[in-house]
Amino acid sequence: MSTPFVNQHLSVSRLKLLERCALAFYFQYVSPGERESRGGAPEFGTILHAALERTYQWIVGKEFSGPFPTDELIRAYQEAWQEGKLTGVHTFQEGLHLLRSYARSHPVVNHWDILAIEQEFNINLGGYTVNGFIDRVDRLGPRSIAIVDYKSNRLLFTREELEGDLQMSMYGIVARRLYPWAERISFVFHMLRHDTHQGTERTAQELDDAAGYVIALGTQSETQDREWLPTLNPLCGYCDHRRRCPAYAQALAGKHEVTAVENWEDWEEIARKRETYAALAKLMYRRKDELDAVIRAKIEQDGEFEAAGSRYRYISGGTSVTYQEEEVVRLFAAYGIPPDQTLRGIRILDPGAVEAFREEVSKTLPRVLSEMLKASLDTMGDRVPNAQRLISSPVKKVGTAKKVAS
Ligand code: SF4
Repeated sequence: MSTPFVNQHLSVSRLKLLERCALAFYFQYVSPGERESRGGAPEFGTILHAALERTYQWIVGKEFSGPFPTDELIRAYQEAWQEGKLTGVHTFQEGLHLLRSYARSHPVVNHWDILAIEQEFNINLGGYTVNGFIDRVDRLGPRSIAIVDYKSNRLLFTREELEGDLQMSMYGIVARRLYPWAERISFVFHMLRHDTHQGTERTAQELDDAAGYVIALGTQSETQDREWLPTLNPLCGYCDHRRRCPAYAQALAGKHEVTAVENWEDWEEIARKRETYAALAKLMYRRKDELDAVIRAKIEQDGEFEAAGSRYRYISGGTSVTYQEEEVVRLFAAYGIPPDQTLRGIRILDPGAVEAFREEVSKTLPRVLSEMLKASLDTMGDRVPNAQRLISSPVKKVGTAKKVAS
């Protein structure tokens, strides 16, 4: 008989994994095996996080108050990058850009407002040891604090996600014990990719309910003979255990059932199917992206190629043009068009509208002037090349001999 599973401790990531997919929890904690690499995205977030953590440590260590120490932040980022394994100049630049934006939106800092950085916690909840780290705790007033968490998510949280977020509820439970004097606790996610923050709060009742839920989840995970069922979800493509997961393999092989809705008044069925197909569609797109990356590498190495009846190549993504209003008005004025007529004719300053107006004006100009206007417009504006696009097109069959009637 196998030893019953017991959680050594509970953490936010552990509980969130159980909520998302029982099989992934099983592979991660109950029967750990080889794990899949998750690629660069999580490491990028870790580097940004380390840069901010080190900068705030510096602010507290130096008892610094004043304009945000951007240089210190950039230095910390470069240091964290050097220690990591990530490569890619675009990702490196993106990190610099995100952190500079963060510094700009926090023009002034005061070490006095920072109560804790990487606050470690280890509390007992219903017999479970719950542990983890809180990115930062700020003092907002004599009796209020903010729990701060840095996120590098590409998507912002919905209102429902913020209100139901287990991480913040857990931090709230912890903060009540660590800062009993705080009458008001706010929760702030710094969404680094969006240069904004999203906030939420919890009532005392909600935190009590969340504590009960955490204990229930912990107990559920230790139930003997429980079934560890897979739940396909949008994060499957990033799951560390996807290679061991039969549901993921079936989804990739297209062996999923696509069945019609049987009862159009059964909202449970409609919602369930909708979520399953949404998760499958996301998985398929991720798989296609992986294959596109392999094809891109081959084209870079060997040039365009044909396979399985398709030809693969990259085509130019064209050029984006941005015009300045003044230069457009000046150009048309040089051909006798008054500024107010130009501004009325081009309501939105995009290349399509400017070109349409040029064609209109050209009808009234002698041919030579019309050609000069076109040539001038072709060299005007800021031009930025767009990224190239991968194209696959069917290979035309040639040489099929016509049958000649005898
Ligand atoms: S790939 Fe998806 S369904 Fe499979 S274990 Fe991971 S999260 Fe669960």
